[in-house]
Amino acid sequence: MARLDLHTHSTHSDGVRPPEWVVQQAAECGAELLALTDHDTLLGVEFAQAEGRRRGVEVIAGVEIGVNDPVLGELHVLGYFPANAPLSDLERQLGDYRRERQSRARRTVERLSELGLEIDYERVAAIADGASIGRPHVARALVEAGHVESVPDAFNRFLRNDGPAYIPRTLLSLTDSLAMIHAASGFASLAHPTRYDEPTSATVAFADAGGDGLEIYYRNDGPDEIANGQQLARSLGLTPTIGSDYHGLHPDEIRPANVPMPDHAAEQIINILKDL
Ligand code: AMP
Ligand code: MN
Ligand code: MN
Ligand code: MN
Repeated sequence: MARLDLHTHSTHSDGVRPPEWVVQQAAECGAELLALTDHDTLLGVEFAQAEGRRRGVEVIAGVEIGVNDPVLGELHVLGYFPANAPLSDLERQLGDYRRERQSRARRTVERLSELGLEIDYERVAAIADGASIGRPHVARALVEAGHVESVPDAFNRFLRNDGPAYIPRTLLSLTDSLAMIHAASGFASLAHPTRYDEPTSATVAFADAGGDGLEIYYRNDGPDEIANGQQLARSLGLTPTIGSDYHGLHPDEIRPANVPMPDHAAEQIINILKDL
């Protein structure tokens, strides 16, 4: 349906499908360009690219990095990289980030235990199976142990931001994340602006810090949200980007490459990313 999807997750972070499956879905929808953007890891990209070569889909290296702004709270930044990008520094920094995720998951398990919900960290790690570990893996362990009914139930009752078992992550600043992405010759887009408490302030802060794009065409955001985003992107000089944010965690999720984007906007971002 859509020519491209620039925001997807796989089993290398908290998605439930392997990278190859995500690429196959995109190919079946006729997409020409896909970015795999797992949380804090690039490790799934080579598998997606190999499948992309088999299926005729160009797959660019991507990542979704969580950052903290002292005023706006947690924001997510998407990074897109050219084929020959110098990624070694970025990969080392992401490795540190993933280790921090592991210790945070351990602390979450301890907090759950204090709340009377016993699960083993080893089980959470086994569910993650080497992926960048996150709350959805903890949620799945809670479901498995019979403490909650479903992943959304685990979030609603315990793991949501400010929930009783929420442990914040130690995050980079917005400026540092943009420096990391730009040092690797990348393009940075602000993920899902409509999901923040203050979308306009978040977008202005992102543009001021030197960000490049804005994820206006996001999941099933409505026409008013899209029109606001377009206006904001124009006034701040950000390039519109698109993403399904596919995880495969819920049956009603929009599937990869199923978010519509006007032709001229698709053309613009495809040209920018192909020329990085
Ligand atoms: P983390 O990166 O460990 O902080 O976990 C955040 C991830 O949890 C997000 O990227 C989503 O995939 C997932 N998530 C966040 N909120 C919810 C929710 N209310 N229900 C289900 N999944 C959620
Ligand atoms: Mn996620
Ligand atoms: Mn996100
Ligand atoms: Mn995402």
